[in-house]
Amino acid sequence: MANKIIIVRTIAELRRHIATWRADGLSVGLVPTMGALHDGHFSLVEQSIKTTDRTVTTLFVNPKQFGPHEDLDVYPRDEAADVAALAEKGVHMLFAPSLDEMYAEESVTAISVPGIGDVLEGSFRPGFFTGVATVVAKLLIQALPDRAFFGEKDYQQLRVITRMTEDLDIPVEIVGCPIVREEDGLALSSRNAYLSPEERKNAPALGQALQKVKDELAAGTSITATVEAAKASLLNGGFTKVDYIAVCDRNSLEELETPTKEARILGAAWLGKTRLIDNLG
Ligand code: AMP
Repeated sequence: MANKIIIVRTIAELRRHIATWRADGLSVGLVPTMGALHDGHFSLVEQSIKTTDRTVTTLFVNPKQFGPHEDLDVYPRDEAADVAALAEKGVHMLFAPSLDEMYAEESVTAISVPGIGDVLEGSFRPGFFTGVATVVAKLLIQALPDRAFFGEKDYQQLRVITRMTEDLDIPVEIVGCPIVREEDGLALSSRNAYLSPEERKNAPALGQALQKVKDELAAGTSITATVEAAKASLLNGGFTKVDYIAVCDRNSLEELETPTKEARILGAAWLGKTRLIDNLG
């Protein structure tokens, strides 16, 4: 049976409902999303429902995290389907603000997270993490949840958000949740909808390439050799461009020269017009 889900579109309404819950001594979990929800998102929702009394999902396609030539205009949107699925999962409230509600015309403040936000995704998508950190900081300050849930699918984003909340003393626990994958290993993503049947067939090669890097490092191959081999295998396997394959410290995301137990392997590559990212620990 679907839950009765409350839908709010203003910060004032969001705060009013949360204040009522707080007055009743209930804890609050926040799950920020850009919609087009899939089982990856639902895993965060389930984690929130399991560990807090009230779960709020947010749906906002944040223009500040899209570059000028990126897919903002065609990003998949289906609010009705998202609402039905969230109600079914038992989410208590959906916060789906308009662009004007989120960013007043005169608003100029941005939050940047230098260093960890400049490498990897940050270097290929300038401004991306400033857009992400700004909107997530706003959502956290608007809702003031006990916990907020983010997927390891976007591993660097999780690290940037953790750094940002610590630096700004935002009193929230950031919870990272494991990557949900299709049966063939492809990490679920709203952007997988862009893939042609042929591209979809080739897509799991990204995760496989990262796994091979991990296995080869364990067998003693150097980082440079295994990373170069992984890039070549992707280009042979239908990928059109590899932005990076990197072996990094899992906390700082600084690239490692020699593998350690703390390593995280991250990759981003293109299948035609679609850019996929993946990572593993
Ligand atoms: P998005 O709607 O793409 O901004 O994603 C919203 C949240 O869902 C982020 O915290 C993502 O990391 C998380 N997420 C997206 N895909 C997956 C997945 N396959 N597994 C786990 N979490 C995911």
